[in-house]
Amino acid sequence: MKKKEILKRIFGFSSFRVGQEEIIEAVLNKNDVMAMLPTGTGKSLCYQLPGYILPGTVLIVSPLISLMQDQVEQLRMIGERKAVALNSFLSHKEKNMALQRLSTYRFIYISPEMLGSEYVIKRLQQINISLFVIDEAHCISQWGHDFRPDYLNLGSIRNKLGNPPALALTATAAKEVREDIKRYLLLSNPKEIVFSVDRPNISLVVEKLDSFAEKKERVLKLAGFFEKPGIIYFSSKRMAEETAEFLRSNGIEGVAAYHGGMEQEQRILIQQQFLYDQLNIICATSAFGMGINKNNIRFIIHFHLPGQIGSYLQEIGRAGRDGEPSIAILLYNSGDELLPIQLMESELPENWQIESFFTQANSKNFQELASELNLTETQLRFLTFYFFKASNNTVENVKAIRKARQAFKFKKIQQMTNWIHAGGCRRSNVMSFFDEQLVNAQTNCCDFCEVELKFYQEKKKIDKIPVLNSWKDILMELLLERKNS
Ligand code: ADP
Ligand code: MG
Repeated sequence: MKKKEILKRIFGFSSFRVGQEEIIEAVLNKNDVMAMLPTGTGKSLCYQLPGYILPGTVLIVSPLISLMQDQVEQLRMIGERKAVALNSFLSHKEKNMALQRLSTYRFIYISPEMLGSEYVIKRLQQINISLFVIDEAHCISQWGHDFRPDYLNLGSIRNKLGNPPALALTATAAKEVREDIKRYLLLSNPKEIVFSVDRPNISLVVEKLDSFAEKKERVLKLAGFFEKPGIIYFSSKRMAEETAEFLRSNGIEGVAAYHGGMEQEQRILIQQQFLYDQLNIICATSAFGMGINKNNIRFIIHFHLPGQIGSYLQEIGRAGRDGEPSIAILLYNSGDELLPIQLMESELPENWQIESFFTQANSKNFQELASELNLTETQLRFLTFYFFKASNNTVENVKAIRKARQAFKFKKIQQMTNWIHAGGCRRSNVMSFFDEQLVNAQTNCCDFCEVELKFYQEKKKIDKIPVLNSWKDILMELLLERKNS
């Protein structure tokens, strides 16, 4: 079958969207490809369609379990059963079964951590992998250096798997991030297909407020005022929960919190309820939303500033995928940048922790050592990676790596803060970070070019929110559905 025919027959689409055909062509020609398309354009199709033309299996490295599950489910909906997600959500038995049958799958989704297992690599070496996809590839640079270090090994893993052509996909990667991606994936002479990061239908607003109390009042007001659904982002789990409670107790309906500290099952449930319009507003940390395919999100509020412009764009990019007008509004108190700085500091081990870890790691039980040194999970990941996996590292080396990471992240936070304080069009300023220029001015562009908030006001009160069953009941239903499908 030809590309167009597959597009129509299997995926049910009549035409390619901007960029898709070009990427697919490059993939089919066995190029290494580094592609950047804005959020919501249809990056999945760029590897899914080739899956029906290439002879072997498409292996997709994906950062989040919920994202993999979602993709596999969407493939099921178009009748594709030969897709599996290998992650910690599978039971031991299910995982073994899947590993025995690897060659029968057309699409295998996998986490970078699972690719760290020698056994999994051995099994994968026995099948024919015709395409190695890294979805949300900016994670390599954004997370790879500290809290998901397994990302940094993907290049050598690809080598072990016989060096299949690679396709790195992302929506937001500035030049230096793209350089990181190419370097760590060991891409050979890759074809770079890069489209604008701009999402013209999302209006960009920053509001500066005088106090925390004012900010809280403002979030309440906006949450009631805007057309829904929407997401409110926080950089603290506690604030996400507290604000959800605050909004609910002030009469806003259909609000829930979502963060990485919640049980996996409950997180999946909240996500499902939001997808099916049973919830209006999610108060979330950055753990929520990546790859979520919900096209009618109308507003994104940032209660705290993200640690970098790339994350900001990822987060606001969840709005307006249907192309309808949507708004992103960032609420700022002076001094807010201290929070991402603190967060960054807590993610990197301190020098004394590096020293103690390196002198004791060979002789002591791991968990004991971690609690003795008071290490957070992220710090422990960082240390174990540089101690065990990236060998030949001396204490001094690792201290230097730590220092460089700190400086790098600090610079990112500064860029984000500068953007908040800069004069001139916000959109144009964002785009210049990605070496782009804004060509066409638009209505409701940003708070510098003028925005009418009224334009984003709730048009009709959404019908009464259906009563939610307990999350356990709903989860049970979901699981049964999955089993029966
Ligand atoms: P991204 O990964 O770029 O954020 P997805 O791959 O999740 O986006 O796709 C977003 C939505 O666009 C999905 O609902 C998908 O079915 C749809 N889509 C993808 N390609 C096309 C196309 N050529 N025509 C119409 N819809 C498409
Ligand atoms: Mg995607």
